Amino acid sequence: MENIEKNNKEIKDFSYVKKNYYELVDEKTKQEMFNFAQKYMTFINENKTEREITDSFYKMAKQNGFKDYDFGDKLTIGDKRIFINRNKGVVAFRIGKGDIEEIGMRIIVAHIDSPRIDIKQVPLYESDGLCFLKTHYYGGIKKYQWTAMPLALHGVVIVKNGDKIEINIGEKDDDPVFYINDLLPHLGKSQMEQKANVFISGEQLNVVVGGMTVKEGENGNKIKNNILNILNAKYGMTEEDFLSAELSAVPALKARDVGFDRALIGGYGHDDRSCAYPAMIAMLEQENDINTNICILVDKEEIGSEGTTGIKSKVFEDIIEDICQILGKNAKKVRKNSICISADVTSGYDSNFPDVFEKNNSAILSCGVCMNKFSGAGGKSDSNDASAELVGKIRQIFAENNVVWQTAELGKVDIGGGGTVAKFIAELNIDTIDIGVPVISMHAPYELISKADLYSAFEAFRAFFK
Ligand code: MN
Ligand code: MN
Repeated sequence: MENIEKNNKEIKDFSYVKKNYYELVDEKTKQEMFNFAQKYMTFINENKTEREITDSFYKMAKQNGFKDYDFGDKLTIGDKRIFINRNKGVVAFRIGKGDIEEIGMRIIVAHIDSPRIDIKQVPLYESDGLCFLKTHYYGGIKKYQWTAMPLALHGVVIVKNGDKIEINIGEKDDDPVFYINDLLPHLGKSQMEQKANVFISGEQLNVVVGGMTVKEGENGNKIKNNILNILNAKYGMTEEDFLSAELSAVPALKARDVGFDRALIGGYGHDDRSCAYPAMIAMLEQENDINTNICILVDKEEIGSEGTTGIKSKVFEDIIEDICQILGKNAKKVRKNSICISADVTSGYDSNFPDVFEKNNSAILSCGVCMNKFSGAGGKSDSNDASAELVGKIRQIFAENNVVWQTAELGKVDIGGGGTVAKFIAELNIDTIDIGVPVISMHAPYELISKADLYSAFEAFRAFFK
């Protein structure tokens, strides 16, 4: 009799009912959430590209006692090290007391590239009163969203003599910004009848960079020549130097509180900085000294994780192997017993577009960080489908640390899909699962998240590293 009653009670206590995290916390915790959000917003305002995030995280790590690491360096228990991958990514780790052959490593991977508009290698031209840069967009964007808004230029130029010039213009209040034209509605009748994926084409994403003619200058290229003079005076670069430049146009918009209650954050590149930032802070603030924890920030996720700075690069496997070798451990055993969080955002349920979501398996904003057991498209294809055993382990870690979390898939079956770096880490024989912040309007120039979910991601990653 007693047992039955107990079982009934447990059934009724089934706790997987999504609750708004704000509703569960006291005023003090809410203030912590808001303080964390404030620091995050400052960080994403100051760091919009993978290069800038790499620089900033490196500085933060150095201040927190991390030392440089290169292949072959000696390592001992307690060491905190950081490795910079070609200025576009970071591997930070701390060697714990525990035997990594037995307990494995704890790894969190987040990406630090976001969708944007990249400048072409032969970009500059003048036409009919304006001067433009030709572009090739980066990542999966709705092209029409990137017109008629202020843009900033970020990046580097390697000039003829090999010097590297850093460019960041459009972020300060008195900086000029840049702009992509759209058609006025008065003349947009036929444009508006076209499909959204073509009514602004890739080759129409030309960035306005000037409009002033000066007396001197070749006929027909007076604006362009003036721009080149300005670039030369300000940066010492010539037109040819665009050949070896990496310049990106990103929204010249600051992250802001959204809503009368300030529950939400609007900002550029929550994908994936809303996961990368909490992962970084969890790495810097880790306390427990048992686990060997690794925080990996990668580039190129938005275009398929290719290249030496994407997660497919062998550099990450090399570092894990190097650590094992130096500590005298069998890397294969270590990888087999390691677990990894692929910290990437997921789609937040959007009641304006209910047709693409299945509500029981959707991420509701402010209900906590979201676990996606699998991603992929149509029959889970291309997905790292994490095992029930791994989900169980994570569930336990979250329960022990009072993490408020939810689970979801990206959208309805067969509606679309998406992928993360999870499957590439799993290829190394490391059990991996996707966990991240739900985002509304993902890949738009200005995305929406909840402060409660951001804080929950931090609590989740902190618990994982504990
Ligand atoms: Mn992402
Ligand atoms: Mn993305």
